[in-house]
Amino acid sequence: MANREPVHIFKLDDHVKVKPEVEQYAGWFGKVTHIETTEAGVQLCTVCLEPDGLEIIFLGSDLELKKVLHKSMLGLFDKCGMAYFFRYNKGKRIPPSCSMVVGISTHKAAAVDLTAKRDSGFLLGDSQVRDIARDKLNETWQAEGVTLDPAEKFMGEKRTRGEAVDAVVALAGLHHTKLAPTISPKHIERPFTVEMQNFPVDLSGTIDLQEADGTLRDLKTTGKAPGDDAADKSLDLTCYGLAARALDHVAPARMALDFLVRGKKPRLETQTTTRTEGMYRAFLMRVEAVSRAIEAGAFTPCSPDFWMCSDKWCGYHQDVCPYGRRAAVTI
Ligand code: SF4
Repeated sequence: MANREPVHIFKLDDHVKVKPEVEQYAGWFGKVTHIETTEAGVQLCTVCLEPDGLEIIFLGSDLELKKVLHKSMLGLFDKCGMAYFFRYNKGKRIPPSCSMVVGISTHKAAAVDLTAKRDSGFLLGDSQVRDIARDKLNETWQAEGVTLDPAEKFMGEKRTRGEAVDAVVALAGLHHTKLAPTISPKHIERPFTVEMQNFPVDLSGTIDLQEADGTLRDLKTTGKAPGDDAADKSLDLTCYGLAARALDHVAPARMALDFLVRGKKPRLETQTTTRTEGMYRAFLMRVEAVSRAIEAGAFTPCSPDFWMCSDKWCGYHQDVCPYGRRAAVTI
Protein backbone atom coordinates (compact mmCIF):
# COMPACT_ATOMS: atom_id res chain seq x y z
CA MET A 1 0.00 0.00 0.00
CA ALA A 2 1.29 3.44 -0.93
CA ASN A 3 2.34 5.66 1.99
CA ARG A 4 -0.11 8.52 2.42
CA GLU A 5 0.69 11.73 4.26
CA PRO A 6 -1.36 12.00 7.47
CA VAL A 7 -4.26 14.38 6.92
CA HIS A 8 -5.33 16.72 9.71
CA ILE A 9 -9.01 16.62 10.40
CA PHE A 10 -9.69 20.16 11.50
CA LYS A 11 -12.46 21.25 13.83
CA LEU A 12 -14.29 24.54 14.16
CA ASP A 13 -12.22 27.13 16.06
CA ASP A 14 -8.95 25.26 15.48
CA HIS A 15 -6.08 27.69 15.29
CA VAL A 16 -4.29 27.01 12.00
CA LYS A 17 -1.35 28.25 9.99
CA VAL A 18 -1.17 28.23 6.18
CA LYS A 19 1.65 25.98 4.94
CA PRO A 20 4.73 27.65 3.39
CA GLU A 21 4.05 26.22 -0.07
CA VAL A 22 0.74 28.10 -0.44
CA GLU A 23 1.84 31.15 -2.39
CA GLN A 24 -0.19 34.22 -1.47
CA TYR A 25 -1.06 33.28 2.10
CA ALA A 26 2.04 31.35 3.18
CA GLY A 27 2.54 31.66 6.94
CA TRP A 28 -0.76 33.46 7.60
CA PHE A 29 -2.74 32.18 10.52
CA GLY A 30 -6.27 32.30 11.85
CA LYS A 31 -9.27 30.37 13.10
CA VAL A 32 -11.39 27.79 11.28
CA THR A 33 -14.92 29.23 11.01
CA HIS A 34 -16.59 26.76 8.63
CA ILE A 35 -15.87 23.25 7.37
CA GLU A 36 -17.18 21.35 4.38
CA THR A 37 -16.21 17.98 3.02
CA THR A 38 -16.55 17.44 -0.76
CA GLU A 39 -18.01 14.27 -2.26
CA ALA A 40 -14.44 13.16 -2.94
CA GLY A 41 -13.76 13.40 0.84
CA VAL A 42 -11.59 16.51 0.64
CA GLN A 43 -11.88 18.81 3.65
CA LEU A 44 -12.40 22.50 2.84
CA CYS A 45 -11.86 24.93 5.71
CA THR A 46 -12.95 28.55 5.79
CA VAL A 47 -10.32 30.39 7.79
CA CYS A 48 -10.75 33.84 9.31
CA LEU A 49 -7.23 35.19 8.87
CA GLU A 50 -5.74 37.49 11.47
CA PRO A 51 -5.32 40.33 12.03
CA ASP A 52 -7.41 41.51 9.05
CA GLY A 53 -10.42 39.20 9.46
CA LEU A 54 -10.30 38.06 5.80
CA GLU A 55 -12.25 34.82 5.29
CA ILE A 56 -10.58 32.48 2.78
CA ILE A 57 -11.38 28.86 1.91
CA PHE A 58 -8.38 26.49 2.03
CA LEU A 59 -7.89 22.80 1.36
CA GLY A 60 -7.33 21.09 4.71
CA SER A 61 -4.03 19.75 3.35
CA ASP A 62 -2.79 23.37 2.96
CA LEU A 63 -3.12 24.01 6.70
CA GLU A 64 -1.31 22.97 9.85
CA LEU A 65 -2.43 23.18 13.46
CA LYS A 66 -0.78 25.83 15.58
CA LYS A 67 -1.15 25.78 19.35
CA VAL A 68 -2.34 28.89 21.12
CA LEU A 69 -1.69 29.94 24.68
CA HIS A 70 -4.44 32.22 25.92
CA LYS A 71 -3.46 34.98 28.33
CA SER A 72 -5.71 33.45 30.99
CA MET A 73 -3.88 30.09 30.63
CA LEU A 74 -0.55 31.82 31.10
CA GLY A 75 -1.90 33.70 34.12
CA LEU A 76 -3.16 30.52 35.79
CA PHE A 77 0.06 28.60 35.11
CA ASP A 78 2.05 31.49 36.59
CA LYS A 79 0.06 31.21 39.81
CA CYS A 80 -0.08 27.43 40.15
CA GLY A 81 0.91 24.66 37.73
CA MET A 82 -1.46 22.20 39.43
CA ALA A 83 -4.44 24.54 39.00
CA TYR A 84 -3.55 24.79 35.29
CA PHE A 85 -3.37 21.00 35.11
CA PHE A 86 -6.86 20.53 36.61
CA ARG A 87 -8.43 23.29 34.52
CA TYR A 88 -6.88 22.71 31.10
CA ASN A 89 -5.51 19.15 31.06
CA LYS A 90 -8.26 17.49 33.07
CA GLY A 91 -11.01 19.89 31.94
CA LYS A 92 -12.26 20.36 35.53
CA ARG A 93 -14.06 23.64 35.30
CA ILE A 94 -15.09 25.12 38.63
CA PRO A 95 -17.83 27.80 38.65
CA PRO A 96 -16.39 31.30 39.16
CA SER A 97 -16.04 32.79 42.63
CA CYS A 98 -18.36 35.57 43.74
CA SER A 99 -15.59 38.18 43.29
CA MET A 100 -15.00 36.95 39.75
CA VAL A 101 -18.67 37.31 38.85
CA VAL A 102 -18.63 40.85 40.24
CA GLY A 103 -15.56 41.58 38.07
CA ILE A 104 -17.09 40.05 34.91
CA SER A 105 -20.35 41.97 35.37
CA THR A 106 -18.64 45.30 36.07
CA HIS A 107 -16.54 44.83 32.93
CA LYS A 108 -19.64 44.14 30.87
CA ALA A 109 -21.39 47.31 32.02
CA ALA A 110 -18.25 49.40 31.47
CA ALA A 111 -17.77 47.97 27.96
CA VAL A 112 -21.37 48.65 26.89
CA ASP A 113 -21.19 52.19 28.31
CA LEU A 114 -17.92 52.98 26.53
CA THR A 115 -19.12 51.43 23.27
CA ALA A 116 -22.10 53.81 23.36
CA LYS A 117 -19.71 56.72 23.93
CA ARG A 118 -17.44 55.71 21.06
CA ASP A 119 -20.30 55.09 18.61
CA SER A 120 -22.68 57.92 19.52
CA GLY A 121 -20.54 60.40 21.43
CA PHE A 122 -22.59 59.91 24.62
CA LEU A 123 -22.41 57.63 27.62
CA LEU A 124 -25.53 55.71 28.64
CA GLY A 125 -27.73 56.87 31.48
CA ASP A 126 -26.59 56.11 35.03
CA SER A 127 -29.45 53.71 35.77
CA GLN A 128 -28.97 51.89 32.44
CA VAL A 129 -25.35 51.13 33.32
CA ARG A 130 -26.23 49.88 36.79
CA ASP A 131 -29.04 47.72 35.33
CA ILE A 132 -26.64 46.13 32.81
CA ALA A 133 -24.23 45.24 35.62
CA ARG A 134 -26.98 43.77 37.81
CA ASP A 135 -28.52 41.78 34.91
CA LYS A 136 -25.15 40.40 33.87
CA LEU A 137 -24.44 39.28 37.43
CA ASN A 138 -27.81 37.53 37.74
CA GLU A 139 -27.45 35.93 34.29
CA THR A 140 -23.94 34.60 35.06
CA TRP A 141 -24.97 33.40 38.50
CA GLN A 142 -27.91 31.56 36.97
CA ALA A 143 -26.05 30.08 34.00
CA GLU A 144 -22.73 29.08 35.56
CA GLY A 145 -23.37 28.94 39.29
CA VAL A 146 -20.90 30.38 41.79
CA THR A 147 -18.31 28.76 44.03
CA LEU A 148 -18.93 30.12 47.51
CA ASP A 149 -16.04 30.39 49.97
CA PRO A 150 -16.54 29.18 53.59
CA ALA A 151 -17.59 32.64 54.85
CA GLU A 152 -20.10 33.03 52.00
CA LYS A 153 -21.47 29.52 52.64
CA PHE A 154 -21.95 30.45 56.27
CA MET A 155 -23.75 33.64 55.26
CA GLY A 156 -25.92 31.73 52.76
CA GLU A 157 -26.23 32.02 48.97
CA LYS A 158 -29.19 34.41 49.00
CA ARG A 159 -27.50 37.02 51.15
CA THR A 160 -24.16 36.59 49.35
CA ARG A 161 -25.88 37.18 46.02
CA GLY A 162 -27.70 40.23 47.35
CA GLU A 163 -24.40 41.74 48.56
CA ALA A 164 -22.79 40.91 45.19
CA VAL A 165 -25.59 42.74 43.37
CA ASP A 166 -25.10 45.80 45.63
CA ALA A 167 -21.35 45.70 44.99
CA VAL A 168 -21.59 45.40 41.22
CA VAL A 169 -24.17 48.17 40.94
CA ALA A 170 -21.94 50.46 43.01
CA LEU A 171 -18.78 49.63 41.03
CA ALA A 172 -20.46 50.03 37.64
CA GLY A 173 -21.88 53.37 38.82
CA LEU A 174 -18.44 54.47 40.00
CA HIS A 175 -16.91 53.60 36.63
CA HIS A 176 -19.71 55.43 34.83
CA THR A 177 -19.49 58.64 36.86
CA LYS A 178 -15.77 58.90 37.60
CA LEU A 179 -13.79 57.07 34.92
CA ALA A 180 -15.87 56.74 31.74
CA PRO A 181 -16.30 60.54 31.25
CA THR A 182 -12.49 60.94 31.13
CA ILE A 183 -11.90 58.21 28.51
CA SER A 184 -11.86 58.48 24.69
CA PRO A 185 -12.46 54.86 23.70
CA LYS A 186 -11.18 53.59 20.36
CA HIS A 187 -10.96 49.80 20.77
CA ILE A 188 -13.06 48.08 23.45
CA GLU A 189 -12.48 44.43 24.40
CA ARG A 190 -10.32 43.89 21.32
CA PRO A 191 -9.48 40.22 20.75
CA PHE A 192 -5.99 39.37 19.51
CA THR A 193 -3.81 36.47 18.47
CA VAL A 194 -0.16 37.33 18.14
CA GLU A 195 1.81 35.09 15.85
CA MET A 196 5.04 34.21 17.63
CA GLN A 197 7.46 33.21 14.91
CA ASN A 198 9.87 30.42 15.91
CA PHE A 199 7.88 29.89 19.13
CA PRO A 200 6.00 26.68 19.91
CA VAL A 201 2.75 28.65 20.45
CA ASP A 202 0.91 31.80 19.45
CA LEU A 203 -0.49 34.08 22.13
CA SER A 204 -4.13 35.16 22.34
CA GLY A 205 -6.32 37.23 24.62
CA THR A 206 -8.44 40.39 24.73
CA ILE A 207 -7.20 43.94 25.26
CA ASP A 208 -9.61 45.73 27.60
CA LEU A 209 -9.38 49.19 26.15
CA GLN A 210 -7.32 51.40 23.85
CA GLU A 211 -7.90 55.12 23.70
CA ALA A 212 -7.74 57.44 20.70
CA ASP A 213 -4.41 58.87 21.93
CA GLY A 214 -2.89 55.37 22.09
CA THR A 215 -3.21 54.88 25.87
CA LEU A 216 -3.85 51.25 26.75
CA ARG A 217 -5.99 50.62 29.84
CA ASP A 218 -6.90 47.57 31.90
CA LEU A 219 -9.77 47.58 34.39
CA LYS A 220 -9.64 45.61 37.66
CA THR A 221 -12.11 45.19 40.47
CA THR A 222 -10.58 44.40 43.83
CA GLY A 223 -11.51 44.02 47.47
CA LYS A 224 -8.42 45.77 48.81
CA ALA A 225 -6.08 48.57 47.84
CA PRO A 226 -3.53 47.55 45.19
CA GLY A 227 0.22 47.79 45.86
CA ASP A 228 1.94 50.98 44.69
CA ASP A 229 3.80 49.17 41.91
CA ALA A 230 0.87 47.05 40.65
CA ALA A 231 0.83 48.69 37.21
CA ASP A 232 4.62 48.62 36.83
CA LYS A 233 4.64 44.87 37.51
CA SER A 234 1.43 43.86 35.73
CA LEU A 235 2.05 41.02 33.29
CA ASP A 236 -1.41 41.66 31.85
CA LEU A 237 -0.34 45.14 30.75
CA THR A 238 2.92 43.80 29.30
CA CYS A 239 1.01 41.16 27.35
CA TYR A 240 -1.55 43.65 26.05
CA GLY A 241 1.20 46.13 25.16
CA LEU A 242 2.89 43.45 23.10
CA ALA A 243 -0.40 42.59 21.41
CA ALA A 244 -1.15 46.27 20.67
CA ARG A 245 2.31 46.61 19.13
CA ALA A 246 1.63 43.62 16.86
CA LEU A 247 -1.84 44.86 15.87
CA ASP A 248 -1.06 48.56 15.42
CA HIS A 249 2.67 48.40 14.58
CA VAL A 250 3.41 50.82 17.39
CA ALA A 251 3.80 50.14 21.11
CA PRO A 252 1.47 52.08 23.44
CA ALA A 253 3.35 55.07 24.84
CA ARG A 254 1.26 55.05 28.02
CA MET A 255 -0.61 52.40 29.97
CA ALA A 256 -3.00 52.58 32.88
CA LEU A 257 -4.42 50.15 35.43
CA ASP A 258 -7.78 51.34 36.71
CA PHE A 259 -8.80 49.78 40.02
CA LEU A 260 -12.38 49.90 41.26
CA VAL A 261 -11.92 49.13 44.94
CA ARG A 262 -14.93 47.51 46.69
CA GLY A 263 -15.96 48.66 50.13
CA LYS A 264 -18.51 50.73 52.00
CA LYS A 265 -17.37 53.68 49.91
CA PRO A 266 -16.09 52.21 46.62
CA ARG A 267 -13.27 54.24 45.12
CA LEU A 268 -11.29 54.55 41.90
CA GLU A 269 -7.50 54.32 41.83
CA THR A 270 -5.54 54.71 38.59
CA GLN A 271 -1.86 53.86 38.20
CA THR A 272 -0.01 54.75 35.00
CA THR A 273 3.10 53.07 33.65
CA THR A 274 5.15 52.24 30.53
CA ARG A 275 7.09 49.22 29.27
CA THR A 276 10.65 48.90 27.99
CA GLU A 277 11.93 46.64 25.24
CA GLY A 278 13.63 44.54 27.93
CA MET A 279 10.31 43.97 29.70
CA TYR A 280 8.71 42.77 26.47
CA ARG A 281 11.67 40.45 25.86
CA ALA A 282 11.41 39.02 29.39
CA PHE A 283 7.69 38.44 28.85
CA LEU A 284 8.36 36.50 25.64
CA MET A 285 10.95 34.38 27.47
CA ARG A 286 8.29 33.66 30.08
CA VAL A 287 5.77 32.60 27.41
CA GLU A 288 8.35 30.25 25.90
CA ALA A 289 9.32 28.79 29.30
CA VAL A 290 5.67 28.22 30.25
CA SER A 291 4.77 26.61 26.93
CA ARG A 292 7.76 24.25 27.21
CA ALA A 293 6.82 23.34 30.80
CA ILE A 294 3.24 22.61 29.69
CA GLU A 295 4.51 20.53 26.78
CA ALA A 296 6.74 18.56 29.18
CA GLY A 297 3.88 18.05 31.70
CA ALA A 298 5.78 19.88 34.44
CA PHE A 299 2.86 20.99 36.61
CA THR A 300 4.21 22.03 39.99
CA PRO A 301 1.99 23.10 42.90
CA CYS A 302 2.34 26.59 44.34
CA SER A 303 3.54 26.95 47.92
CA PRO A 304 0.84 26.18 50.53
CA ASP A 305 1.34 29.64 52.05
CA PHE A 306 0.60 31.35 48.69
CA TRP A 307 -2.62 33.40 48.96
CA MET A 308 -4.37 31.37 46.28
CA CYS A 309 -3.88 27.99 47.97
CA SER A 310 -7.08 28.09 50.03
CA ASP A 311 -10.78 27.22 49.86
CA LYS A 312 -11.52 30.89 49.17
CA TRP A 313 -9.38 31.30 46.06
CA CYS A 314 -8.86 27.82 44.59
CA GLY A 315 -11.79 25.64 43.57
CA TYR A 316 -9.55 22.55 43.64
CA HIS A 317 -8.36 23.13 47.21
CA GLN A 318 -11.21 21.52 49.09
CA ASP A 319 -11.30 18.02 47.65
CA VAL A 320 -9.61 17.76 44.26
CA CYS A 321 -5.96 18.72 44.63
CA PRO A 322 -3.67 16.42 46.64
CA TYR A 323 -1.68 19.50 47.72
CA GLY A 324 -4.77 21.30 49.03
CA ARG A 325 -6.87 20.66 52.09
CA ARG A 326 -6.68 16.90 51.55
CA ALA A 327 -2.95 17.10 52.27
CA ALA A 328 -3.73 18.58 55.68
CA VAL A 329 -6.13 15.79 56.67
CA THR A 330 -4.44 12.74 55.06
CA ILE A 331 -1.71 10.94 56.96
S1 SF4 B 1 -4.92 23.56 46.10
FE1 SF4 B 1 -3.07 24.84 46.01
S2 SF4 B 1 -1.58 23.58 44.87
FE2 SF4 B 1 -3.60 22.69 44.50
S3 SF4 B 1 -4.35 23.61 42.63
FE3 SF4 B 1 -5.12 24.87 44.30
S4 SF4 B 1 -3.62 26.48 44.57
FE4 SF4 B 1 -2.65 24.87 43.38
